Amino acid sequence: MPVSIGLPIVSSCSVASCGYNHDGCHAAAISVGGQHAHCNTFVDTEHKGGADATAAVGACSREDCKHNADLMCTADSIAVGGSTDVADCLTFAARV
Ligand code: SF4
Repeated sequence: MPVSIGLPIVSSCSVASCGYNHDGCHAAAISVGGQHAHCNTFVDTEHKGGADATAAVGACSREDCKHNADLMCTADSIAVGGSTDVADCLTFAARV
């Protein structure tokens, strides 16, 4: 299955407990939002699943991030990992 054209990819994810993470994120697309730029697609399960391709960032509600335009992420790629919460967008950068 091809990666959605024009969407940023999840280039790395260090959240081993997520069902979509097996050698990278394999959700078709993730959404990011909330207080800590949380990965809303994170699911704590031993069942590994998802799509063949690396995940894209389908939506992001963190409009205070400099990479956000019209509720979409415009970064080339993002990294996901534990930060304030168990699965956060580590590429978040506050607008100044
Ligand atoms: S880099 Fe910014 S706009 Fe892109 S997913 Fe992360 S928080 Fe959202």
